[in-house]
Amino acid sequence: MSASESPAGDASGVLIVGGGLVGASLAIALDAAGIAATLIETAPPRADAQPSYDERNLALARASVNGLEAIGVWCHANAAATPIQHIHVSRAGEFGSARIGAGKQGVEALGWTLPARELGMALLRRLDECTWLTRLAPATLSAIEPLADGWRARIQTAHGERCIDTALLVGADGSESFVRGQLDIAAQRHDYRQTLFVCTVTPERPHAGRAWERFADAGPVALLPLAEGRCGLVLTVAAEAADAVAGLDDDDFIALAQLRSGWRLGRLSRPGRRHSYPIQRIAATRLTAARAVLVGNAAQTVHPIGAQGFNLGLRDALTLAELVSASADPGDAAMLATYATRRAPDREGTMAMSHGLVQLACLRQPLLAPLRSLVLLACDRLPPLQRALARRGMGFRGEPPLAMMERVP
Ligand SMILES: Cc1cc2nc3c(=O)[nH]c(=O)nc-3n(C[C@H](O)[C@H](O)[C@H](O)COP(=O)(O)OP(=O)(O)OC[C@H]3O[C@@H](n4cnc5c(N)ncnc54)[C@H](O)[C@@H]3O)c2cc1C
Repeated sequence: MSASESPAGDASGVLIVGGGLVGASLAIALDAAGIAATLIETAPPRADAQPSYDERNLALARASVNGLEAIGVWCHANAAATPIQHIHVSRAGEFGSARIGAGKQGVEALGWTLPARELGMALLRRLDECTWLTRLAPATLSAIEPLADGWRARIQTAHGERCIDTALLVGADGSESFVRGQLDIAAQRHDYRQTLFVCTVTPERPHAGRAWERFADAGPVALLPLAEGRCGLVLTVAAEAADAVAGLDDDDFIALAQLRSGWRLGRLSRPGRRHSYPIQRIAATRLTAARAVLVGNAAQTVHPIGAQGFNLGLRDALTLAELVSASADPGDAAMLATYATRRAPDREGTMAMSHGLVQLACLRQPLLAPLRSLVLLACDRLPPLQRALARRGMGFRGEPPLAMMERVP
């Protein structure tokens, strides 16, 4: 059953608000399971119109790629993806570093990098193939009213207002979620007072599938391997410095990037167009309400430097699709309680890890330096610790959705 156009009768089906990376993935996963749903999105259905289908380079965990393969998205994206064969984490000016290699973990890649724009185009192509899905875009949710068996959603479209009654309302509408506010779910916020600059650069030496992450007092910096020998630069600067960095010409910007990321890949050159993002941590205090659930950034927005936001949101989406497809009623209270319980360890662990990593890595206390170096060395040298870290890094956290599990050939 798809969400019904009122006043046709009882609320039915699933209504997904937000067709970003997570909402679109959920819609596709439900369709693949034969569940009818309605997806509404404010932006027109084009990759260049969608705010998050932009130039940011996503590091996709291995489990996420398994999931995207299972729902038929990866075949539209893999030509643009670059495998991550090694991860190297260090801190400027301190001894010790942690290296994780795919070979040692018995896999051909720890994950893949892919521009968000390419993933967005792959999702749009796969959405076009859906059978049971109704798509409304541009369409914006403007109000919800409770019904005995679901929600009535008021939606503004180019052709006027439409009302849809749904048995399950899904808020996949991003960090400033309108659905979250309408459901009276509070959100805890932390402003990192940092801005992230993202662009592509060309390193002098081949990246050889290496992802570099380097922490420093001024914030973390990362270089992700991309196609054609390029790298995706992610540079964090203090919020007060953001305007000055935005105003730098290419030569001065590349000099700053070089200073912050080091010389392991030789000289950096040819910076692409710069994009900047202010960084906040936003965590909903609950994941569910009666016949409603939050997924992706609407549920939790984490610091991008840990490369966890979409990976975590995809685990939300695929877990929800798995539970809905096994339930006679998509808004069933027991099913939603199972969802919240099943997502809690992964969600809380990933949020704590992302936040803790940034806090610890950027703290300036001199006494912390040797301890930090020892932690990095332990991660590098102790195989059980490295295995545990690699498994988490590959996205196998909590109770992963079945679609993400490794397939035995
Ligand atoms: C610089 C940067 C680098 C990143 N790198 C990584 C990475 O390497 N790996 C990783 O896993 N994650 C990464 N992330 C995080 C990742 O991009 C996000 O977690 C992900 O895009 C969130 O997707 P979403 O669908 O939940 O939310 P969004 O992308 O925000 O989508 C929400 C959608 O809802 C729509 N919407 C909002 N309100 C309404 C309404 N009322 N009605 C209808 N539609 C509505 C919006 O138009 C939007 O399209 C990065 C983020 C940044 C900023």
